Amino acid sequence: MKSAIGMGSLLWAGIGDTIRVSLSAEPEQEIKVGFEMLKSLGLRTRGVRVVSCPSCSRQGFDVIRTVEALEARLEHIKTPMSLSILGCVVNGPGEARETDIGLTGGGAGKHMVYLRGVTDHTVESDNMLDHIVRLVEAKAAEIEAGEATAFDPHAAPAQTAEAAE
Ligand code: SF4
Repeated sequence: MKSAIGMGSLLWAGIGDTIRVSLSAEPEQEIKVGFEMLKSLGLRTRGVRVVSCPSCSRQGFDVIRTVEALEARLEHIKTPMSLSILGCVVNGPGEARETDIGLTGGGAGKHMVYLRGVTDHTVESDNMLDHIVRLVEAKAAEIEAGEATAFDPHAAPAQTAEAAE
C-alpha cells in the first residue's frame, strides 16, 4: 500500500521512467505488483484487466472465488484485454459494455456472457470457469494474430465504405 501511494502519486505526476516495488515476497510478485500499479494508472497495459464487484447477497454465483480462480488461470495471458465479472444485473451490464468479455450472474445457475459489450449467450455455473478461460484465450490468440483488436468502447465506430464516400 505504501509503495502504491508513494510511487503512484509520482507516476501520476509524470515523474519516473522505471519502477521497482520492494516486497517481502518472491521476486515474481514484485513484477506483478509493479504492472498492477501501472495498469491502475493507465500507463501500461499487459494481460487481462479484470473488473469485478465486491459481491453481495444478490450475486448469482460466488464472485470472490470465481475472480480468484480466473485471475490464477489467466496469468499466462500477456495480451492486453478486459474482462468483467459481476454477480448480478445491477452493475453487470454497465461494466460488460466496457469490456472485451463480460459475465453477469443470473438466476437458477444460468449467467449472461457479453462479447465486446453486447449480450451474446448464457453459460451455466458448472462450466462457467472453463468457458470464460476458453473465451479469453481465444480472444487473446485473435488479437495476437492481428485478427481482432482489444475492445475500446470509446473508439469511434468504423466507417463503412458507403459512409466514407
Ligand atoms: S453487481 Fe450485483 S452482486 Fe455485485 S455487488 Fe453489485 S449488486 Fe451485489
